[in-house]
Amino acid sequence: MELARLNWPDAREAIRRVGLALLPVGSIEQHGPHLPLGTDWHIASHIAREVAETGDRLLLPGIQVGVSEEHGQFWGTLTVSPDTLRDQAIALARSLASHGLKRIVFVNGHGSNGAPLEAAARSLREDDVFGFVFNWWQSIGSVLGELFPDPTAHAGSIETSMMLVIRPELVRTERFDDADAVGQWGAYVEGVLVGSDAADFTEGGNVGDPRLADKGKGRRVLSAACESLSRFCGWLEQRSEEELARRPHMP
Ligand SMILES: [Zn+2]
Repeated sequence: MELARLNWPDAREAIRRVGLALLPVGSIEQHGPHLPLGTDWHIASHIAREVAETGDRLLLPGIQVGVSEEHGQFWGTLTVSPDTLRDQAIALARSLASHGLKRIVFVNGHGSNGAPLEAAARSLREDDVFGFVFNWWQSIGSVLGELFPDPTAHAGSIETSMMLVIRPELVRTERFDDADAVGQWGAYVEGVLVGSDAADFTEGGNVGDPRLADKGKGRRVLSAACESLSRFCGWLEQRSEEELARRPHMP
């Protein structure tokens, strides 16, 4: 159930009953000429909602804007600093913990959010609040490798396939041919990263070919991600607080 739709007596009942909460984290950043700025948000919130609804888990209002400094030259991209994202994640988890629910899974849709969210989780654990970062693409790496042998780091075949399922009306298929043919994230000289902004190596903004997108594959990726997150939630719900807490100092 979705926290924002509950009144406080129902929220009390829900918070006492569920074992954990899910908080989607997205980005508002350019995703090539063909996908909406909110792509990462749409994907993360879709996965979080599915898993909250199929299990008895609380869906929190998410964090829509993430850390997207590397896309800043493209129109419409919004960003917060890594510290701001970390602090917001900590504040939301602590706020939830003040009501007694101390387990939160950040369902992340964007790579650059990963490190600040991990930093938040580490900090929360010191106060016996347990945060975990579910990066959907990492959890189903083998499925992605099997379905998409092409390099597709950003707004390429994978994300485009997923968006054809989630929000097909926002996918501008007629612009696929305007997308770049770049296959690798980052500009390198002799293996040294010399350009880490998207604008350093792609004019269209994408990395990977959206013309290889396929709605059926998008469905398979989404269900694999939801199944993986469900399994993780099941694991987390069965852990005791002692098992989750930081280990004591060595004797
Ligand atoms: Zn993305």
